Formats: sequence, structure tokens, C-alpha cells
Amino acid sequence: MRKKVCMIYTGGTIGMVPTESGFAPKKGYFAGELAKIADLKDPSMPEFDLIEYDPLLDSSNITFEQWNQMASTIKEHYDEYDGFVILHGTDTMAYSASALSFMLENLDKPVIFTGSQIPMCNLRSDGKDNIITSLLIAASGRVHEVALFFGHSLIRGNRAMKMSSDGLIAFESPNYPPLATVGIDIEYHESRLLPHPKGRFRVHFMKPVRMAVIKLFPGIQFDLFAPIVSENIDALILETFGTGNIPNYANSLPPLIEKAIENGTSVIVCTQCPQGTVRLGAYEVSSSLEKAGAASGYNMTTEAAVAKICYLVSRGIERHLIASYMEDDLRGELDH
Ligand code: ASP
Repeated sequence: MRKKVCMIYTGGTIGMVPTESGFAPKKGYFAGELAKIADLKDPSMPEFDLIEYDPLLDSSNITFEQWNQMASTIKEHYDEYDGFVILHGTDTMAYSASALSFMLENLDKPVIFTGSQIPMCNLRSDGKDNIITSLLIAASGRVHEVALFFGHSLIRGNRAMKMSSDGLIAFESPNYPPLATVGIDIEYHESRLLPHPKGRFRVHFMKPVRMAVIKLFPGIQFDLFAPIVSENIDALILETFGTGNIPNYANSLPPLIEKAIENGTSVIVCTQCPQGTVRLGAYEVSSSLEKAGAASGYNMTTEAAVAKICYLVSRGIERHLIASYMEDDLRGELDH
């Protein structure tokens, strides 16, 4: 029997058309583009149904509400399909893939994010190949997690980063090798995939979370940030230098971090380096973070850290416990 995949179209370049103010999604248009792809009718392809969201969004406009919408579509149709393909704009795809990885607990079916850099209405669109391969992966029964397919590799959703704004290999997973490599064959790397889950599939929904991400740069004036470090903020992610290093010259960041932690704000240390890990205390300039109680994001992407905080706060984890949960590996998003 042919496998069945649910394809969810949320928006993004893949189904966009040119308008006077640049590319934008158009209601009802994408189904027509799909119908033109004769290969989708090949008997070796899975059957699929298309669910088009309304409104369709440029992914710059995606918020936790669309994460909830995607999770709820998957929850509603979980038993009807062998897998899911989510067509999404590339700009924030890594955030959504990370978010869904936390929201879908004990996921036993593939949920594959994809999209394109060139719209389907243009010659040379990368959309067709990305769709065909994602459908095959979603029907394969080999993947039990949220992943992202783009170009020629399948990568873990919560390890993905958009690395190129215009290249066709737009995504990379700098700290975890690909789950599958796509050449003449789709070669799954079994040992890198998450195993079948043991528990029952559950969906957790997201709530709005008050958080900030501060990217450090030489000479940063921390006093400008003092007003946002208040009791009103649940979490603060610092994108630090190298292994978690921050300037510690007089009146710089350490007092601000101490104040944030006293207020009950979770402070998470990520690195600006796409590859490698945070090691608090390796240098004198990161030891104050460790002493103040900041959590290490290890080699987690900032995208995954944002989604994970949103997930933990939404689950009602007490503020003072969030930092320690951030250091745990929940869905294959980090290594110690
Ligand atoms: N701005 C588009 C989006 O993220 C870019 C893309 O899809 O490639 O929705």
C-alpha cells in the first residue's frame, strides 16, 4: 500500500509570487504549482494531501502562534499519515524546526521541514527537488524526529542554522552530522538518528515568553541594556565570544547578569561561533558568568535556545529551574 504524507504549506518563498513590493505568498497559488510536477504522480512517490494555512506568511512573521498551529495540525492528523512535510520560509525555519522538536514529545513519525530559495514560479527553483525528497523521507519510516531537508542533506531540526541568504545549500548543522545524505540514493545514517520513543506521543503548546537575546561586540555599552534586565524578563540569552567569554572591564556585564539572576531571570550562554561549544570558566572572562549562576548552552544553536526557553516557560517550569533544564539534552539539541 502507498504511504501517505500530510503536506502543510505555511508560506515562504517556495509558493511566493512577485508583487510590486517584492515576493509575497498568494492564497491558493501553491496547489497549482504542485499540480505541474508530474513526478509527484510517479507510483514510487507517496500519496499526499495538502493543507494550506490562511494567512500564508513570510516566515519573518512567524510567532509561537504558528508553532502552535503546526503542532495542532500534526496532533489532529497524527494517526492518519505516515509522516509530515512542513513547507516553510527559510528565514526562520531553523527556529520553527527547533520549536516543533520540543513541542512534539515522543514523536514516532518524520516531521520534515523544507522550502526553497527560489520560488516555484521561477526557472531553476530548488523547490521541486526539496519537495520530492522531503516526501520520500517523510514516507520512509526511518526518521522519528523533527528534521530539515534542504539541498542534499537531512539535518536535525534543532541543530539547523540558516547559513546562506542566497545559496541553494542554505542550511547547515555545524555541531551534528547529517542524519541522511542525499546523492544518487538517500543514505540514512542510522546511528545519528533518534531512536523510537518509549512513551506516548504528546503535544505541548507554546505561550508568549518575555526573553531577550544580546549579541556581544567589542566595546558594547552594557548600561544601555540595564533597563531590559528587570523582573519582567523570563530569560536572557547571551551570544558571547568563543567559549562563552564576555568583557569584564569595570561596570560592564557581570553586575548586570548578577542583577538578572537575582530577579529570577534565567541567563543562558551561547556562542557566536557556529561551530564548537561553550565552556564556562575556561577563561577568566567567563568565570563570572559561571559564578553568577548562568547556564551553559553548550553547543546548542541560538535558534534552539530560543525555542527551548519558550517550551520550558510554556510548560510552567519554575523560573529558577529553567537554567538547569537548559543544560539538559531534551531532544538531541546539545552535547556536553
Ligand atoms: N523571506 C522568505 C521567508 O522566510 C525567505 C524564504 O522563504 O526563503 O519566508
